[in-house]
Amino acid sequence: MAPSDARTGTLLAPAPWVDGRGDRIRITAVRTFLTAPHGCPHLIVRVETSDPGLYGLGCASDPQRTLAVRSVLDDYLAPMLVGRDPDDIEDIHRLMLNSAYWRGGSVTGNALGGIDVALWDLKAKRLRAPLHSLFGGRVRAFAEAYTHVDGADAHEIADKVTAARERGYRHVRIQAAVPGSDTYGAAGVGSPDRSVPWNSAAYLKTVPGVLTRVRERVGDEVELLHDVHERLDPRQARDFLRRVEGAALYFVEDLLAPEDAGHFRRLHASSPVPLAVGELFHDLRQFMEVLEGPSIDFARIRVPTLGGLTPARKLAAVCELRGVRLAPHGPADVSPVAQAATLALDISSHAFGVQEAAVFKPAVHEVFPGTVVAHDGGLVPNEAPGHGVDFDEVAARRHPVPEPGVHDRWALLRHTDGSVGRP
Ligand code: MG
Repeated sequence: MAPSDARTGTLLAPAPWVDGRGDRIRITAVRTFLTAPHGCPHLIVRVETSDPGLYGLGCASDPQRTLAVRSVLDDYLAPMLVGRDPDDIEDIHRLMLNSAYWRGGSVTGNALGGIDVALWDLKAKRLRAPLHSLFGGRVRAFAEAYTHVDGADAHEIADKVTAARERGYRHVRIQAAVPGSDTYGAAGVGSPDRSVPWNSAAYLKTVPGVLTRVRERVGDEVELLHDVHERLDPRQARDFLRRVEGAALYFVEDLLAPEDAGHFRRLHASSPVPLAVGELFHDLRQFMEVLEGPSIDFARIRVPTLGGLTPARKLAAVCELRGVRLAPHGPADVSPVAQAATLALDISSHAFGVQEAAVFKPAVHEVFPGTVVAHDGGLVPNEAPGHGVDFDEVAARRHPVPEPGVHDRWALLRHTDGSVGRP
C-alpha cells in the first residue's frame, strides 16, 4: 500500500454505503490556519473538496491549548477525512469521536467542532442554502444579543449601560471592579499576568451592592446580566444570591465551577435569580446533570468546545423540551466563523434566549469577510450559502498568534492566601 493511499479516509474508515453512490464529491484536504487579529489565538479549519472552489470553514479555537488542538486535527483527524464523502456529517462525527477511545475534553471537542462546522458549511454551500435553512429554517427575525460593560463603581457602570441602550442593546452584562482584588471582566483592575490575587470576601462585600445601585440608576427597562466566572464556592454562592436579589438580574452566569455543578439543584430551588452555566462544559453529559429538574435557566453552550453543531443541535432539542433557554457563549475568543455557526442555531431553535455578542477589532473583519455585527441589539444571519463567513488567508498571516505561555497567563490566578484559584 502506498503511503498516500494509507492516508485516505476511505481506507482508514470505510463507510459501507459509499460504493453505491457513484462518482460523488470527496474531501481532498483538511487545512488548519492560526491567526490572532483580535489578539487571542484563532484556529481555523478549511475542509477542501474535489469540486474546485467548494470548501467549508470551521473554528477550533481553544485559546489556551491551540497547538494541541491543531495537532489533533492535522495528525489524527485529517487523514481520516481525506477521500470521504463530506455529506455524512453524523457518521463522520461519531467516527472521529470514537477514534480517540478516551473521548471528551476541550482539545478533542474543539478539534471535532472545527471539522463539524466546516462540514455543515460545506453541505449548505452545496445546497446553495443559508446554514439555518438546514436546521428547519428561521423561527425568529433576529437573535437578541447582549454586550459587556464594566466600571469602577455604580455611577460609571450605569452611564455605560445607558450608552449601550443608546446603541440598541436591551441586554447588558455588567462587571464591577473590586478594590485591591483581581476582578473578572473589569478592565484596569488586577493585572494582566494575574499577579494581584482574587479576594472572595471583598467581592461578596462589594459587588452585589454595586449591581443593585446600577439597577436603581438605570431602571427596569434594560436586562442586566452578571458573570461570577466560577470564582465562588457553594457556600459563598448562596450568600451572593441572597445579597444580589435587589439587582433583578436577567441571569447570573457561572456562579459555580463545573466541578461544583451538583450544588446547582439546591441553589436553583431556593433562589429567585435565574442561573446560566455551560461555557466550560465540553460534553453533552455535563449538561444532562443540570438539565435534570432542571436546575439551571440558561445553557451557555460554546459550539466549538462542545464538538460543533452536531452535538449542539441535540442539546438545543433537550433544552427546548426541558424549558431551558440557550444563551450561547460568544466573546472574541469565538471566531466570526463559530459566531455565525452559533447564530444559525439561535435563529432556528425555539429554545433560544439570548446570544453573547463580541465587538471585534477592524482587523478581524479583514481576515473574516462576512463577520456578523449586532445592529439595534440583535444579530441577523447572513443569507449567503453556508454560514456566510469567509476566511482571507493572506490577511490572516499579518496577525501571528502569541507564543504558548503568553495568552495562557490569562488563566492563572491565586487567592489572597496563595492558593490557586479559578480563572
Ligand atoms: Mg462567561
